[in-house]
Amino acid sequence: MAKSRFEYVRQFEKSDILLPECYIVVRIDGKKFHEFSKHYEFEKPNDMRALKLMNAAAKNVVLNYKNEIILAYGESDEYSFILKKETTLYNRRQEKIASLFVSLFTSNYVALWPKFFDRDLDWKHLPFFDSRCVLYPNLQTVKDYLSWRFVDTHINNLYNTVFWKLIQVCEMSPREAENFLSGTVSSEKQEILWQRCSINYNNEPEIFKKGTMVSRKGEFLHVDIMKVIDEIFDGY
Ligand code: ATP
Ligand code: ATP
Ligand code: MG
Ligand code: MG
Ligand code: MG
Ligand code: MG
Repeated sequence: MAKSRFEYVRQFEKSDILLPECYIVVRIDGKKFHEFSKHYEFEKPNDMRALKLMNAAAKNVVLNYKNEIILAYGESDEYSFILKKETTLYNRRQEKIASLFVSLFTSNYVALWPKFFDRDLDWKHLPFFDSRCVLYPNLQTVKDYLSWRFVDTHINNLYNTVFWKLIQVCEMSPREAENFLSGTVSSEKQEILWQRCSINYNNEPEIFKKGTMVSRKGEFLHVDIMKVIDEIFDGY
């Protein structure tokens, strides 16, 4: 096909090529999900339907890119997809990878919504997600990345569980619950949950406490990542 005289504008397009030999992590995160979850009346602190929907959307992304992905890990409104260091997906173009992952995830989230929620999505409150690619230069930093997200899940979930139970069971106001928990360490929070609300944190669902790992085959696992991390990355 003949080139038009306008073709030169192509030169203005620049793409970032992700450094070779590095693991690529694509992390997506729901935009303003604090509000989104309020609008659709998510159960607090953890809405199981919403977590399962996130997992189902992530599973389809993993299966679509199963030759490139080692695993995915998700909690709350976020998911991380860990790609093999040798992947040549889209010639390692950063914006292609980040945009296609988040777009595929979002379309799945929307398409699968009715499987998990009785109520329709309304056009003024549609879900959308941000996306970034982060490079990790060796196995240790990838493992630490995953451990970081895992620890974050634990810390947030413990806090949110006690916070909401103090409100729901002990009838504290959000302000009172916040003040009550201020300065407490993990063991104290678990003790408060037990003493005040008769809830044993250990009996909370694993999916809440540990988040969800998606294997390359699309299996969901809710496990202590710190304990299995060396096994998971064996061979990578
Ligand atoms: P940003 O746009 O900066 O990401 P955000 O409101 O999405 O803002 P996050 O830090 O990403 O803030 O937190 C996500 C919030 O979404 C949580 O704090 C929680 O209120 C809500 N949320 C996400 N998933 C669930 C769930 N399964 N059940 C209940 N609430 C949820
Ligand atoms: P890539 O993933 O590289 O973008 P692609 O198949 O999407 O590959 P494009 O160059 O973006 O290739 O071209 C989009 C193609 O989609 C068109 O060539 C055409 O076949 C099809 N297409 C898009 N919009 C329409 C439409 N409205 N009606 C019919 N065909 C369409
Ligand atoms: Mg955020
Ligand atoms: Mg968010
Ligand atoms: Mg988030
Ligand atoms: Mg196209």
